[in-house]
Amino acid sequence: MDARNSFDSDVIVVGAGLAGLVAAAEAADAGRRVIVVDQEGEQSLGGQAFWSLGGLFLVDSPEQRRMGVRDSRELAGQDWAGSAQFDRPEDHWPRRWAEAYLDFAAGEKRAWLHGLGVRFFPVVSWAERGDGRADGHGNSVPRFHVTWGTGPGVLEPFVRRVLDHADAGRVRLLFRHRVDELLTEGGAVVGVRCAVLEPTTARRGAATSRAVTGDVELRASAVVVASGGIGGNHELVRRMWPARLGTPPSTMVAGVPAHVDGRMLGIAAEAGGRMINGDRMWHYVEGLRNWDPVWENHGIRILPGPSSVWLDATGRRLPPPYFPGFDTLGTLKHLRGTGYDYSWFVLTQRIVEKEFALSGSEQNPDLTGKDVRLLLGRVRGGAPGPVDAFLRHGEDFVVAPALGELVEGMNRVGEPGLLTEAGLRAVLEARDREVENPFGKDAQVMFLRGHRRYRGDRLIRVAAPHRILDPAAGPLIAVRLNILTRKTLGGLETDLSGRCLAAPDASGVGRPVPGLFAAGEAAGFGGGGLMGYNALEGTFLGGCLFSGRVAGRAAAMG
Ligand SMILES: Cc1cc2nc3c(=O)[nH]c(=O)nc-3n(C[C@H](O)[C@H](O)[C@H](O)COP(=O)(O)OP(=O)(O)OC[C@H]3O[C@@H](n4cnc5c(N)ncnc54)[C@H](O)[C@@H]3O)c2cc1C
Repeated sequence: MDARNSFDSDVIVVGAGLAGLVAAAEAADAGRRVIVVDQEGEQSLGGQAFWSLGGLFLVDSPEQRRMGVRDSRELAGQDWAGSAQFDRPEDHWPRRWAEAYLDFAAGEKRAWLHGLGVRFFPVVSWAERGDGRADGHGNSVPRFHVTWGTGPGVLEPFVRRVLDHADAGRVRLLFRHRVDELLTEGGAVVGVRCAVLEPTTARRGAATSRAVTGDVELRASAVVVASGGIGGNHELVRRMWPARLGTPPSTMVAGVPAHVDGRMLGIAAEAGGRMINGDRMWHYVEGLRNWDPVWENHGIRILPGPSSVWLDATGRRLPPPYFPGFDTLGTLKHLRGTGYDYSWFVLTQRIVEKEFALSGSEQNPDLTGKDVRLLLGRVRGGAPGPVDAFLRHGEDFVVAPALGELVEGMNRVGEPGLLTEAGLRAVLEARDREVENPFGKDAQVMFLRGHRRYRGDRLIRVAAPHRILDPAAGPLIAVRLNILTRKTLGGLETDLSGRCLAAPDASGVGRPVPGLFAAGEAAGFGGGGLMGYNALEGTFLGGCLFSGRVAGRAAAMG
């Protein structure tokens, strides 16, 4: 080790993503000297949150009330329990974190963020509309609050606070420092050993060189692991893939940058922390291969409105409640049973214009750039620029004036010969007959009518029900959907102070590992998996904010 590179501090934060930045800001606010280490370069400051849409789960907010949504802590608790489906002894801390997080989301979260300058788009979105059961998975009401400025808008106050502390000498940011080991003495974590990686000029989000130019040991009385999840490491995702979701897909696209490698979780486990619920993960079934990739195998998630007809690779329509945007993992499980890694949306130009949005800050230049004029385009109609670019360049899209040509295109993009025009026509005509009446028995069409009673959906999200084969609504569009890896729901087990817990001893109690804390996705967003088996959306950034704040404050106490 190069002795000149040895510094001391009170708190070391591993990871300069959202959770790490919140933890660092809080610890420095409490007067502690903080070192933040990150394996990436300065250009990737903020980690995944930079790329995110900035959607936040809030309960009973002024934005909801203004849109006529009546929400409550009680209703949110019911939805959370139905989604999480906690059922394991390891769920002790996740359950407690879930309760604390719900209190936060229904309580001070909005005021705290508002005080830091964060603002929200006034139309609240309705993500994960659920599995059709009152006490099952999903949001009973719209709760997804998109931040004005998207992910960068969520990050901004925390980046600012950390940089201000850095100017004042309380925070030191060490980029291209990759933690390879947690230093322990007498069972306590006392610091980190880092490999210093060669400088990089790679653009934000791109994979960077792993060439090592030196190493350094850093010591502190507390180490906060905020290193993110495993979604960028497909080998690890496949290894952890739960049997309840069928076999792991052989083809997936990556919804996260390569730095989301999961490596630090193993390093924390070697130092005594306990990883729980590693088989719980949140991957999407509406992934597009990015025609203009930032990272390798870059996938973009469609944030689907509910009108597209969803077909498996062989052209069978998915059964209720597997409609676009209703039940992510239920749909994933169903699709894994079809024997194919992809499925299809079939829709009309009218639906694409009203309903298609893409997740990610760079796919929403109006909201990210706080550009009101551009934003008005969402109400005026026409496909947004980034969606239009996918329609023109995306390898997963087929656009055709008539069904025969559409099916030809689908057989070119997907596995050849799987689909016939007669088969697809029968499915679409059956569905189309159900929109002729103001009533009917097609569950998806019934949902569309119900959801359009919500002003936000009617305004910018749900097209008026119409026949898919109506030429006036065309051209027809088919989109091949890939499985896209994103979030890790399990993680390092932590108590309500963000302290990492060791495996239970003979008396069944897992005791805190002295000096070791975890936050953000590395901690399953709190407790080792506060969302249980499913997610209500907007809960990831929120979980980073909440667990980062808890861990930063607790680490500052020593
Ligand atoms: C496109 C996209 C859209 C999203 N949209 C939303 C949304 O709208 N709402 C929502 O709630 N969530 C959303 N998410 C999820 C959310 O952004 C992430 O879950 C969250 O930002 C994770 O933050 P984190 O700080 O825990 O980890 P990360 O952002 O992954 O940061 C971890 C950091 O640790 C560093 N690191 C890892 N290992 C080491 C090591 N050994 N040594 C040193 N450094 C290390 C990494 O380089 C990285 O900078 C989205 C994610 C993406 C990618």
